[in-house]
Amino acid sequence: MLKSLSSRLAKPLLPVSRARELVLEAIRPLGSEQVDIDGGRGRVLARDVLAAGDVPPFPCSAMDGYAILAGDSGRRLAVVGESRAGTPSGQRVGEGEAIRISTGAAVPEGATAVIAQEQVSAEARDGSPDGAEIELRSASPPGQHIRGAGEDMRAGTTILTAGTRLGAVDVGAAVAAGAAALTVARRPRVTVLCTGDELRAPGESLAPGEIHNSNAPMLTGLAAGAGALPAPAQRLPDDRDATESGVGEALANSDVVIISGGVSVGPHDHVKPALEALGVREIFWSVALQPGKPTWFGTRDGEVLVFGLPGNPVSAVVTFSLFVAPALAALQGGEPPSPPWPDAVLGTDVRRNPIRDQAVRVRVQAGATGPVAAPTGAQGSHILTSLLAADALAMIPAGEGQLPAGTRVALRAIAR
Ligand code: AMP
Ligand code: MG
Repeated sequence: MLKSLSSRLAKPLLPVSRARELVLEAIRPLGSEQVDIDGGRGRVLARDVLAAGDVPPFPCSAMDGYAILAGDSGRRLAVVGESRAGTPSGQRVGEGEAIRISTGAAVPEGATAVIAQEQVSAEARDGSPDGAEIELRSASPPGQHIRGAGEDMRAGTTILTAGTRLGAVDVGAAVAAGAAALTVARRPRVTVLCTGDELRAPGESLAPGEIHNSNAPMLTGLAAGAGALPAPAQRLPDDRDATESGVGEALANSDVVIISGGVSVGPHDHVKPALEALGVREIFWSVALQPGKPTWFGTRDGEVLVFGLPGNPVSAVVTFSLFVAPALAALQGGEPPSPPWPDAVLGTDVRRNPIRDQAVRVRVQAGATGPVAAPTGAQGSHILTSLLAADALAMIPAGEGQLPAGTRVALRAIAR
């Protein structure tokens, strides 16, 4: 007993960066699929989007006004027609003529400038009927207020590259480029399993010793936020057989299984033996990280990734952010989320952990010489409220004593 305890204590902890590498090395990107453009937001592009044609497709007006020949102020022109957005004028503009034009309407043949409505004599300008005369109050250089075809996108050029996580603006740009469907990465199927006899559903009244299961909505929500397709979270009791059957079922239906709690070495921690019995190969367990030391990672046949995250809610979010979020991104061929800045200087002294790097919840604000990271409050792994105000994790390298204010530290994104 004493011997096994001492050998366990002697087990070296894996550096955070090495743990991240081992996770990424285990990734086999999922395939791709076609989705309707409306299903594109939040997905990762698997194939570049090229502009099918020029955008704008035709020279058009940047103003409400008149299409004319470029030239001097003071000219009087006869209004001979109208070009509206969606309804071009079939006419040609000649010397002494003007065609009323709306913003976005096609510039008629012959026209070399547009003059804004406000630059035309007041008595005639509002909706001048055909045959009306307008007087120009300013000169119009060639090309004035004309948007050239292809000024935004040239036919055949790449507008969005594979690996881009699509936001609403990306989808809009794809539509402008002529796309109606997109080739995107398949979404990882994720199952979240929360172990713990003490866990109760949201709002349930608590008997002594019980707590609400906050990890279930957090981890499924974080998975969804990372582009995954989460199944409803399951709660597993602290029981060997129930753990094995619950994990077994999840393995059969998932690309990624995320287990919260039960991965330490207490008498009621059944996750590790259950995983072993189910043929899930351990890649690492125990990372030099605070919070998040008892993090477990392995795969079944390289096909299903399994993360055993510590049960404390902050530890679960931190380890999700550092290990699971990059894995979900890589499965989709995308980049992990990035923090607001790559690094920052500490706003206060931070006590170091002698053997583990710390992921400190910080608020990052612009300072005189760059971003400054200030801890958001108590850093216990059960203090979820200090995560609420945080916008990044500051990585404090292991070591003795304090890391003084002003020290530059790397930042990592908190999954949301
Ligand atoms: P464990 O990793 O199972 O030893 O759990 C560590 C701590 O996290 C314990 O205080 C648990 O009660 C707590 N915990 C475990 N799972 C959850 C959960 N799903 N939601 C909230 N707290 C949890
Ligand atoms: Mg537990």
